[in-house]
Amino acid sequence: MEACQIENILYAGIVGDALGVPVEFKKRDSYYLDDMTDSGTWEQPKGSWSDDTSFSLPLMENLTEGGNYDQLMKKFDNYMFHNQYTPDDQTFGIGNTCTKAIRNWSVNHYSALKSGDTSVYANGNGALMRLAPLAIHLMDEPDLQKRLKLTKNYTSLTHRHPRAIVGSYIYLEILHALLNGQPFRRVLETLPDKLTKALQNQPDELAELPNYEAMFKSDFDTTLRQNIKSTGYVVDTLLTCTWCVLNSTSIDSAVILAVNLGDDTDTVASITATLASCEMLSDHISDEWKKQLRNQDLLKSIIEPFAKSEAKQDKSLIA
Ligand SMILES: [Mg+2]
Repeated sequence: MEACQIENILYAGIVGDALGVPVEFKKRDSYYLDDMTDSGTWEQPKGSWSDDTSFSLPLMENLTEGGNYDQLMKKFDNYMFHNQYTPDDQTFGIGNTCTKAIRNWSVNHYSALKSGDTSVYANGNGALMRLAPLAIHLMDEPDLQKRLKLTKNYTSLTHRHPRAIVGSYIYLEILHALLNGQPFRRVLETLPDKLTKALQNQPDELAELPNYEAMFKSDFDTTLRQNIKSTGYVVDTLLTCTWCVLNSTSIDSAVILAVNLGDDTDTVASITATLASCEMLSDHISDEWKKQLRNQDLLKSIIEPFAKSEAKQDKSLIA
């Protein structure tokens, strides 16, 4: 894959985040948005991106550097406590589960892979929202078990309940298949069987698969909008983003559909943009929106080296 295609996928996710920030937590149909705006929930200027991007950037940087899990947790800590990886040295709106995990690592000295919350109430989309760079990193990795293991580890840094882990498996395996040229509907048809077989020795995870079964049905795209839930619950988020992409013919239109669903708009729009741009590799996110993103220098300084190193990645070099 070309570096510019990788950059497009990553910028699409950030644009989705920034489009959604002003309307995060707003009620569906209490607004209509089709462009970048300012203020809103967090009173941020136009083009401000949030924790979704601020957690993805350290992951990209760490993958480029070949860093370990502790080095990545240190970067998350630098975001949460020292305002790094932000549009303007200001941290806002970090979810409870991520906050707790970073505190577990930095204050309570938990090991990185044990820092995530195992509670059933800690099944938000906070791990899902940062994992696109990992999917790009694993694009050429042919070993399914190896991909699942790394996906589990990178999820567990903040989210350790099997439902969140299985959500990450589904998301990363969809991205893997899309990046390798499979059509989205075909991926959705075949993924449940593939995961059921792969998780035979992980009964806790296997038991979570039925929570996601609606998105694999062949008529899922015809689900009524009123039955699509755009909350921050990992299951809702994954289903909703899938629905948005199945009902769109371009990356931009998928993002607009997502951002107008209300509630967790930034994460839902960001993941929708990522899925759409992996499915439509010849399309690209609006340049007008991309140009309006804040702190372009920081974005470029992390995205460019990551895209370059992944574009020329040799299979044998995957850690
Ligand atoms: Mg956010």
